[in-house]
Amino acid sequence: MEPNETSSILSLEVTQEQKEAIYHFFAHNDWEFKEVQIPPNNDQNRDDSGDGDYFIEQDDKLDECLYCFCRPCITNERNRQLWWETDNHREHERNSQLRKEKYKRFWTNLFHRGVWKDPRYLEQKHEALRRDFRGGKYIYHRRDLMPKCVIELVRHWYPNLQDKEYMGHMWE
Ligand SMILES: [Zn+2]
Repeated sequence: MEPNETSSILSLEVTQEQKEAIYHFFAHNDWEFKEVQIPPNNDQNRDDSGDGDYFIEQDDKLDECLYCFCRPCITNERNRQLWWETDNHREHERNSQLRKEKYKRFWTNLFHRGVWKDPRYLEQKHEALRRDFRGGKYIYHRRDLMPKCVIELVRHWYPNLQDKEYMGHMWE
């Protein structure tokens, strides 16, 4: 590099062999370079504990959902996420596990909208936990109650076999 030339950081994901080839190429040209340590990218390891501290604003012009307190409802098409189903699945035994996965994701969506901290929700949760102190009566994720709108949509995507009752009642 010429003394007056400005430098920038270029990061590449390479194999050991490629790395050595690059070093050789630099050495061959008599170029100097400085290695910069980049902290590992933790994005992939991030779970849904809600560490991402961003906040998604509600749209004040729209009606608030009675169940999830979102404007519009968290299950409204406008809130569609990549992991949303486009088709409903067939009734199946394994669907209960698949529903759980979706509840988890909705939990995170609601977290980012501050629903789990809404005083109205907290009051309802308090009341529900009092009535359901053994658990099992409602559908929870991380001790938060899934709102009716979410449960309805997710059960639509992954229905139970016809003669099989759903676990947990809807919290209304
Ligand atoms: Zn809703």
